[in-house]
Amino acid sequence: MVVVGAGPAGLEAARVLALRGHAVTVLERAAEPGGQVLMSRLVPGREELAGLAAYLVDAAERAGATIRLGVDATVDVVLAGAPDAVVVATGARPGVPPIAGIMDSPAVDPFDVLRRSAGLVRRALVIGGGLLGVGVAHVLAERGADVVVAEPGGELAGELGLRPRWQYVANLRARPNVSIRLGTTVEELSADGAVLRKLGEVERLGGLDLVVPTRPMLAVSGLADALKALPGGPAVFEIGDCVMPRTAFEAMQDAAALGHRL
Ligand SMILES: Cc1cc2nc3c(=O)[nH]c(=O)nc-3n(C[C@H](O)[C@H](O)[C@H](O)COP(=O)(O)OP(=O)(O)OC[C@H]3O[C@@H](n4cnc5c(N)ncnc54)[C@H](O)[C@@H]3O)c2cc1C
Repeated sequence: MVVVGAGPAGLEAARVLALRGHAVTVLERAAEPGGQVLMSRLVPGREELAGLAAYLVDAAERAGATIRLGVDATVDVVLAGAPDAVVVATGARPGVPPIAGIMDSPAVDPFDVLRRSAGLVRRALVIGGGLLGVGVAHVLAERGADVVVAEPGGELAGELGLRPRWQYVANLRARPNVSIRLGTTVEELSADGAVLRKLGEVERLGGLDLVVPTRPMLAVSGLADALKALPGGPAVFEIGDCVMPRTAFEAMQDAAALGHRL
């Protein structure tokens, strides 16, 4: 079996499939396994997630799976292994929201903000207060920026259960250089400003040197679609964020359920 992607979904699938006697090879594009967990561990207060990635790798390898890093799994690369089945766990990536003026604004990819320490940021707007938005806000605030988080819903990090969410959000609220706007949408962006709306009220932000849109998250489904379109190709199964962007916990649940079925 070939598993594409060494995030939580791919690694957990590899572990269960190998324990059940399948010969499993995991193909991962990055130089390090872990998927988005490699980014979530960079968020202050979430460092323990590094342990999750290390555990998943160790457990998959102990079960007998082989993990190949630095391999971009195209259709040809996958078929070269002549697999009976392919488990696609290619995860999710941030998309660009359809906000007027976004192309003229200092908008950057949230994964880049987490991975690289960009130059000096004085004032940043984080669009979306989900798991990723809260993580980005923590990182920027830690680097000294004044951060505004605009979330259209009524709560932050709503993807998480109540207990893990509480600490993650309480720590953000406690930061003096972070202000949170719930029930608030971003209507328009410009070279250094934004127009926010909360019900009938409009707020204009100026002096922004960074805008970080953290929604939508897009499922990375191109490889699975291409494999499924092949006549007479191997069986293809999709798990984790490439089905629908959610959490590491749900990605691993998908993986374990599939692994026990095959
Ligand atoms: C900042 C942040 C904080 C988070 N906090 C939490 C949290 O507290 N709790 C929680 O449960 N979840 C959290 N999450 C979400 C969680 O990390 C994701 O839901 C989870 O990682 C999804 O797992 P996955 O395996 O489906 O995909 P991913 O983790 O995205 O892994 C997909 C892997 O596939 C690889 N890949 C893609 N295409 C190819 C290809 N063609 N060839 C080879 N490799 C490929 C990618 O390089 C990647 O390593 C957080 C995410 C972020 C970004």
